[in-house]
Amino acid sequence: MIGTGYVGLSTGVCMAHLGHHVVCVDIDAAKIERLRRGEATIVEHRLPELLREGIDSGRLSFSTDGAAAVADAEFVFMCVQTPQGDDGSADLRHLYAALDSLAPALRPGTVVINKSTVPVGTAREAQARLGRTDIHVASNPEFLREGSAIDDFLEPDRVVVGCDDAAAGARVADLYRKLGAATVVTDPATSETVKYASNAFLATKLSFVNDMAALCEALSANIDDVVIGMGLDRRIGKDFLRPGPGWGGSCFPKDSRALINIADNVGHDFGLMRSVVESNLRQFDRIAARIASLVGGSLAGVPIGVWGLTFKAGTDDLRDSPALEIVTRLLAAGATVTAYDPTVTAPSNSIPSGVHLAGDAVSAAKGAACLVVLTEWLEFAATDPDEVAAVVAERRVFDGRNVLEADAWIDRGFSYARIGR
Ligand code: NAD
Repeated sequence: MIGTGYVGLSTGVCMAHLGHHVVCVDIDAAKIERLRRGEATIVEHRLPELLREGIDSGRLSFSTDGAAAVADAEFVFMCVQTPQGDDGSADLRHLYAALDSLAPALRPGTVVINKSTVPVGTAREAQARLGRTDIHVASNPEFLREGSAIDDFLEPDRVVVGCDDAAAGARVADLYRKLGAATVVTDPATSETVKYASNAFLATKLSFVNDMAALCEALSANIDDVVIGMGLDRRIGKDFLRPGPGWGGSCFPKDSRALINIADNVGHDFGLMRSVVESNLRQFDRIAARIASLVGGSLAGVPIGVWGLTFKAGTDDLRDSPALEIVTRLLAAGATVTAYDPTVTAPSNSIPSGVHLAGDAVSAAKGAACLVVLTEWLEFAATDPDEVAAVVAERRVFDGRNVLEADAWIDRGFSYARIGR
């Protein structure tokens, strides 16, 4: 595994669990040192157990020496970051730097597998860049969801492999055989497109339901029942129709913009995706405006307690978090923000300056004119409203994830506002 972040580490421990011998490589020596000690470097359900299992079995090891690791490898998974470039396209600098440095060390017959999300055409470009006919490059996009990455790997909806060499593609698919998953083996461009199409479709569903929620608020309709009523239609399905403060995370924002860029490059104006992205930005504005209206119109000097900073529950990932988008807007409007997130214990560059971090949920609510829920951590739903009532300045809560038990809060004298009702 080249790159031992969310994808490389999850894939590495799971591949070792399936019985493969895995070396996870990273240029971050401190990360590799911690992993060698068996310390999980990300928050992910079941990861600590599988990490320990892999190390104890002798099938999983960690290294900063990529060339040594690939010299023996039948398969090399590229799992490095592909962030958004200035023009919205995916930035492939890390991928190509890794590939160029490893190329001379690859042994004949090795399959190089792109797990990073990359523009359509990258596998073939990488093949040409390697300039070796004894190595094949395959695309094998990753569909894991942070927070359930291990379960998603071990029980995937599908495995997708794209390779111009049928035998190499079959060998890659075979790595996953024990999982018994539906497998799509195709050409590299199609495989790369499946990844972008899947993320774009999911982002579209989320923008749709958030816009529907705003409409429900205006129409005095109830988004929960609208979603149930829609979701029972098997053509629609109930998943990914949960309204929230907007979508984010390390993938959807950059992958949506990258797809628009990919389409632009071939002269296709993907107006639908543009609207999906714009709808999401409007959602952030709408949520911040709603919080302002709850406190009387102006946020200037108003203390706000925030529950949740990560982009979703079950992860410590703050990249492109909708919670941070909302917090940034609250601060810009003059609010003072005290926030609590179970995985955020120390200030970092990711957190907007001006945010005070609290050590627990109740402390974050202390003195607040409004308590705002922005990430759906289970502990928020389990927090006793009486304890919160005792410390807030005003009994006012805005549930941006629709996770609190409304009646319990209303019974304690809170005014309770939520999305889509
Ligand atoms: P990440 O930033 O968590 O991890 C990338 C790792 O690669 C880092 O630890 C970095 O130090 C390392 N790295 C960079 N250059 C290297 C090099 N030359 N040699 C060795 N290591 C190197 O990124 P991530 O979230 O794991 O995402 C990786 C890719 O997978 C991205 O393309 C992303 O879009 C895609 N993806 C991510 C997710 C997700 O939920 N995070 C899901 C599906 C796909």
